Amino acid sequence: MIVAIDGPSGTGKSSTSKAVAAKLGLSYLDTGAQYRAMTWWMLSNGIDVDDASAVAMAADKPVIVSGTDPGAPTVTVDGVDATGPIRTQAVTAAVSAVSAVPEVRARLVRLQRAAAASAPEGIVVEGRDIGTTVLPDATVKIFLTASPEARAARRNGELKGMEATSLQATREALVKRDAADSGRAASPLAKADDAVEVDTTELTLEQVVECVVTLVEE
Ligand code: C5P
Repeated sequence: MIVAIDGPSGTGKSSTSKAVAAKLGLSYLDTGAQYRAMTWWMLSNGIDVDDASAVAMAADKPVIVSGTDPGAPTVTVDGVDATGPIRTQAVTAAVSAVSAVPEVRARLVRLQRAAAASAPEGIVVEGRDIGTTVLPDATVKIFLTASPEARAARRNGELKGMEATSLQATREALVKRDAADSGRAASPLAKADDAVEVDTTELTLEQVVECVVTLVEE
């Protein structure tokens, strides 16, 4: 059982994916966390993230390991727990540039396919290109959407207590990241033809989870 959940940020992708995995007894993989971990390593090692060839040359250096328990998702980089540091604004601002580099994607897609192949009962994998590129034979494909206003409000809620930021700034950063993620040449953010689109703007998390679980059990 492989469930692919794609969509832009602020659509409730992570909360939905974790809850669906927990409910169905499946593993969980946050591929965005892997791109963030790669970006955090690049920033920590003084690599210019806007220099695609420098990023490409370093792409196979960090050892990135993702925990797949939906109750406690973690990511380590070279043995260091990076679960917190990958959520900073510095990483968020740089991640689209790093993710656009084909060598980065090739490396992480290999890790993602290996995680899916070794999950005992199956796995929920969330990202931007899971249904189109990483796992095109997934059992169920979901594409989550929501209005930019709802997405900015949700992102701000997640950031609360971490870093002060205005709703307007969050919205602008989201729109910019979407444009970069959708416009890149290498497996852009896209809905697979056979994915079911769920607009979460007016739905609670419980309703979205219910909807996805129903689609999986059909
Ligand atoms: O999901 P999250 O917002 O944490 O993802 C961070 C970034 O990682 C995205 O903005 C995108 O640039 C990149 N990403 C990607 N492909 C994926 C998952 C995430 O390019 N499958």
